[in-house]
Amino acid sequence: MASVYIHIPFCQRICSYCDFPKRVSKTIEIDRYLDALEKEVNLYSIEEKLETLYIGGGTPSLLTISQLSKLKKIVSRFTFANKYEFTIECNPEHITKEKLLIYKELGINRISLGVQTFNKRLLKLLNRGHEESIIYQTVNLIKELGFKNINIDIIFAIPFQTIEDLKSDINHIKNLDISHVSAYSLILEEKTVFEKMFLENKISLVENEVEAKMYEIVITSLKELGYIHYEISNFAREGYLSEHNQVYWKNQEYYGFGMGASGYINHERYYNEDKVNRYIEKINLNQYPIKSKDLISIDEFIKEEFLLGLRLIDGISIKNVNEKFNIDVLEYFNEQLQFLIKNGWISITDKIKLTYEGLFYGNEVFEQFI
Ligand code: SF4
Repeated sequence: MASVYIHIPFCQRICSYCDFPKRVSKTIEIDRYLDALEKEVNLYSIEEKLETLYIGGGTPSLLTISQLSKLKKIVSRFTFANKYEFTIECNPEHITKEKLLIYKELGINRISLGVQTFNKRLLKLLNRGHEESIIYQTVNLIKELGFKNINIDIIFAIPFQTIEDLKSDINHIKNLDISHVSAYSLILEEKTVFEKMFLENKISLVENEVEAKMYEIVITSLKELGYIHYEISNFAREGYLSEHNQVYWKNQEYYGFGMGASGYINHERYYNEDKVNRYIEKINLNQYPIKSKDLISIDEFIKEEFLLGLRLIDGISIKNVNEKFNIDVLEYFNEQLQFLIKNGWISITDKIKLTYEGLFYGNEVFEQFI
C-alpha cells in the first residue's frame, strides 16, 4: 500500500501568514505545470495500491474545469485500495457544484477547507478571499452532494484576535457540524507579510498566556462537541481521523509530487525543486525534479519517530519502537525521557505520550529529539 502527496503551488492571493511554496496563479503556467506533473508521476512506477492521496497547496481548488481533466489523467495513473482516503484542499470561495461533481468523479472523498476564521475583520487581516456566509453556503453544498468527510482548518492566536472571537469561531464550527477540525496557533514565519508588518510594528503577537488559554479553549470546546483530540492540532469525529496525515505522524513512507513537494521512500527523503520554472525545466529534460536528498541514518530515523509520533495523543508504543529499531528505547533516550518526566510533560506506561501539560510545551519536548 502507498500514500501520495501532490502539490498544486498556485494561489489567487497571498495570505499574510503563509510561507508555503506557492505563487500567484497564471492560467498558462498552471496548464504547463499540470503537464509537467503528469510527466513526473510517469517517471515513477508505483505498483502499490494507494491507501491515501492528498492534493494540497497552494490552492488546488483554483483548478478550472479543463485543468481538472488534466488532473484526472494524472490520478488515473494510480490504482486505489478498496478502502482509501482521497483529499483535496479547497478555499471556500472557489467551490462550485460543477467542480464538486468532478471531484466525485475523480474519487475524491474528503474535502479540506481553508477557513482559518469566520471573523470578517480577521479574515481581512489574513488576506483571505471569503467571508462567513460563503463558508456556510460551501459546506452546505458539499454536504448536499454527499461528501461526509469534511475538514475545516482554523487558526487561533491571530494578531488582534480576542478570546470572544475564538469562541465565536468555535460556535460556527458547532453549527456547521463537520467531521474534522485542524486548529493551529499562528506562527510568525519568515518572509511573510505578517513578518514585515511585525517588524514595522503594525501588528503584535498574542501573548503566550493568552495563546495557551486559547489552545485550552479549543481543546475543551471541541471535545465537548464530540470531537476526538487525536493529534496536537487535530480533532475528528469517530471514524474520521485523517489517514493521510497519520502516515506522516507515524513516520511511514510516501511519494511527493510537484514543485516544492517532498517524499520519503526507502529511508530517503527527497525534496523537489521549489521554483516552478526550474521544476518544469527538469521534467522536460526527462530528469527527476529533485533538488536534494537526505539519506536518513538510523539515529535520525529514531529521533523522527519521536518528533512525529509524540504529536499523536495516543503516543508511541514502546514495544513497536523497540521491535522496529531493535533497541531498548527507554535506555536509548534515557536522559531526554527523564528530563521530560521531571517536567511533567510526558508519561510512560506501555506507551510514551504527552501529558495534558505537555501539549502546551510541544516545542520544548520536541527540542529533546533534534
Ligand atoms: S495559506 Fe493557502 S491560500 Fe493562502 S497563500 Fe498560503 S497556500 Fe495560498
